[in-house]
Amino acid sequence: MKSKYMAEPYRIKMVEPIRQTTRDERITLLKNAGYNPFSLRSEDVYIDLLTDSGTGAMSQDQWSAMMVGDEAYAGSKSFYKLESVVKHITGYKYFMPVHQGRGAEQVFLPQLVTKKGMYYISNIHFDTTRAHVELAGARAIDCVVEDCYDIEHYHDFKGNFCLDKLEKAIATHGKENIAGIIMTITNNSAGGQPVSMANLRAVKEIAKKNGIMTIIDGARYAENCFFIKEREDGYQDMDILDIARETFSYGDAFLMSAKKDGLVNMGGILAIKDNEAVYNKCRTYIVPMEGFPTYGGMNGRDMEALAVGLMEALDIHYLQHRIDQIRYLGDRLRDAGVPIQHPVGGHAVFVDCKAICPHIPYDQFPALAVTNALYIEGGVRAVEIGSLLLGRDPDTKKNIQSRMELMRLTIPRRVYTYNHLDVVADAMIHVYEHRHELKGYEFEYESPILRHFTATFRPLK
Ligand SMILES: *Cc1c(COP(=O)(O)O)cnc(C)c1O
Repeated sequence: MKSKYMAEPYRIKMVEPIRQTTRDERITLLKNAGYNPFSLRSEDVYIDLLTDSGTGAMSQDQWSAMMVGDEAYAGSKSFYKLESVVKHITGYKYFMPVHQGRGAEQVFLPQLVTKKGMYYISNIHFDTTRAHVELAGARAIDCVVEDCYDIEHYHDFKGNFCLDKLEKAIATHGKENIAGIIMTITNNSAGGQPVSMANLRAVKEIAKKNGIMTIIDGARYAENCFFIKEREDGYQDMDILDIARETFSYGDAFLMSAKKDGLVNMGGILAIKDNEAVYNKCRTYIVPMEGFPTYGGMNGRDMEALAVGLMEALDIHYLQHRIDQIRYLGDRLRDAGVPIQHPVGGHAVFVDCKAICPHIPYDQFPALAVTNALYIEGGVRAVEIGSLLLGRDPDTKKNIQSRMELMRLTIPRRVYTYNHLDVVADAMIHVYEHRHELKGYEFEYESPILRHFTATFRPLK
């Protein structure tokens, strides 16, 4: 229980009922879902921590802004409103709305791939980013710091680029073959871990020296700014907005899934600092891919809601609460001995299932075993981030072993209270205390690509 005179910085004006099921019902529901939580109906989930993407709650200001959405095909008032907010935050010259983050990727990333054998380099490419790099005919290289894989060890900025790896990758492949450097903030695949301002600045310097463009993949840039304010020397007294502006000064382009720090359920941003040639290419390409450049896959109402949401996400009181919720859940688990990625990142708590289930081999999916046990125990839906997600080697068809077997407890924005998080913690602690009883899984059905979404399983005896 949380108090000491602090609670959620909002009160609830509209409620969405949720229902707890019985343990016996959940055993049947999970069996019917082929032991794959993706196949559960959301109405059969009590607390849904599958993702923080598009699952947040909008504010009264966002809902009221939607009433004045201008649905004009071209030159909508709502477009100009959103454009002015994006320019205000980023300082960039060019902006186009897209339907979600991957929309920005499919329009922008191919424009820098001008020949065969090119590479994008990132701290860690997010899945859809990697997919669009490869669809554009380039290859993806990750250069994150090694601290990122040291789960229990504290590091302020586990999302950072390893500058050494970055310079080596540029030297090995030749600067003329690097399409761009993608700064993923926060570093989603590393557990929502932040990247420091010093690291962004250093990456920009390396890029500049080599004549390479930098791209900010900033789905959670506001959360990243909060960590910089909290942890990095010289930023304690700076406004979040000013930290954001400095962040954007180190990028040449900004791709954003607005389903995260845009505080909307659908939407995305493509902004370009000043490169007119690239902007013109994107403006041509966006029409067949997403839509006319002043709506690009969003309707007027949603652009209004995003214009408001972007500013709300920079509010320090909102961010303090947001990060405190993640930390609260993380602390409760750590206090009970449950091994988690430490410190917690900006949007989720990652539970170390390799440490919980050393008796389950990687190809029997220890993190799926924990995820399913958590659902049965508490009606809580989490997601496996490990060898199941990683898939098979395309050449040998063997299961690839992931370096980490994690279960992600992803917290939607402004949706759950500390009481909900207590339910999650209590259920997870119970699962942890009974960890020796957990069993692995084998496939009943396995799809050839993105198998984690649709696979069905049999529990092993
Ligand atoms: C979610 C996400 C994307 C893709 O955005 P969608 O809105 O899901 O298409 C890209 N990069 C990062 C870092 C993300 O978290």
